[in-house]
Amino acid sequence: MELKVVKFGGTSMADAKAINQVAKIIESDPSRRYVVVSAPGKRFSQDHKVTDLLYACYHDLEINGECKATFAKIRERFCGIVSDLGLDMDICAELDRVEQDMVKFRSAEFCASRGEYLSAKIAACRLGMPFVDAKNIVLFDEEGAFLAEETNERVGAVLKQHKQAVIPGFFGADAMGNVHTFSRGGSDITGAVIARAVRASLYENWTDVSGFMTADPRIVPNPAPIAMLSYRELRELSYMGANVLHPESIFPVRTSNIPINIRNTFAPADRGTMIVAEVPADCVHEDIITGVAGKKGYSIVFIEKSMMNSELGFARRVMSVFEYYNISFEHMPSGIDTLSIVVADNELAGKEEVLLDRIRKTVAPDHIEIKQGISLIATVGHGMSFHPGTAAKLCGALAQANINIRMIDQGSSELNIIVGVSTTDYERAIDAIYRAFKG
Ligand code: ASP
Repeated sequence: MELKVVKFGGTSMADAKAINQVAKIIESDPSRRYVVVSAPGKRFSQDHKVTDLLYACYHDLEINGECKATFAKIRERFCGIVSDLGLDMDICAELDRVEQDMVKFRSAEFCASRGEYLSAKIAACRLGMPFVDAKNIVLFDEEGAFLAEETNERVGAVLKQHKQAVIPGFFGADAMGNVHTFSRGGSDITGAVIARAVRASLYENWTDVSGFMTADPRIVPNPAPIAMLSYRELRELSYMGANVLHPESIFPVRTSNIPINIRNTFAPADRGTMIVAEVPADCVHEDIITGVAGKKGYSIVFIEKSMMNSELGFARRVMSVFEYYNISFEHMPSGIDTLSIVVADNELAGKEEVLLDRIRKTVAPDHIEIKQGISLIATVGHGMSFHPGTAAKLCGALAQANINIRMIDQGSSELNIIVGVSTTDYERAIDAIYRAFKG
């Protein structure tokens, strides 16, 4: 029997019109039984997300001991939604309680969680479904680490008692009742956790785009949508900033083989992107690649030393210096006498000189330098492993566009080729790769 968990993001909950659209989607399919919602997002580009306002409230509380002015904006937003929906609910009493609790508990995570809490209360009232508080079913330990198995059992047991329910996303609580949140965008994780626990046949994630695109539409005009994607391809693309879905939301559903369908609340007829464990062989993309995505803001720590390859423990000693300064790295392609360590700029910031100094002392390289202004581009697709010459095609496209490859790294899974280019070439490089494979 079909059972769907549906999650609606911030834009889908932003105002009464969007919420009515959400209700229409849910009511059109009785298998959409468990609903997870985000806090209201932006209605227009200059608007504030409710979650951002709630973090600002916490900041006000820390500085001034009160947050009346900022909370007034949140109050206005929720009162407006309830009144436009014409709901019979005492939102003023809810808001008063929330404001008092925020002052009482004074934790950033508690404050931030109230957007989802209120949003779910409103959705439950609009849909005529029971509200189930995530605080009682999504469990964390005292340090704020998510307890996956305990949560799975608890959610299963509690939701068994409800044919339908609305659950706020983003947060849960520890055994003492203290609220903890996932990282930003974490309602996607809540949806996945609920889908696993109720053994859903499908996890629908409703947002404001019709799924993943083969490239960033801000760089490539009208890129083709991706109809189907494997969990692993998704990992690779979201790691590179294709952020339609929170990357951690894959783990709960992957263990139970539940597909995720990204859908567009504002274009519900679009089929969106289906994310599955294994893309069937006949669907593996004929044009070899599934998508291309990239990120700016990297540097390469380039080390050269002759006979490096025969020096036992060389890479380990270099990496121990990175560990010492608490710098995590992204990639480490190497040659016989060279080692390139790709690091995000925010990891490296301010530590450049001490890092170089200590590496010099540790492994006495012939040459060491930091090459800044690097962007990484991942070209992803299961189809690549069946097609010899993929790397040649990619490199050829970049050469033709007169773009120098500063680094190249192909995972042995043959799912992904990552190139590093100068950030000044970033957009042109994405465009050239897209054109080479997608025409
Ligand atoms: N409201 C939270 C955020 O803005 C969580 C979410 O929307 O998923 O990050």
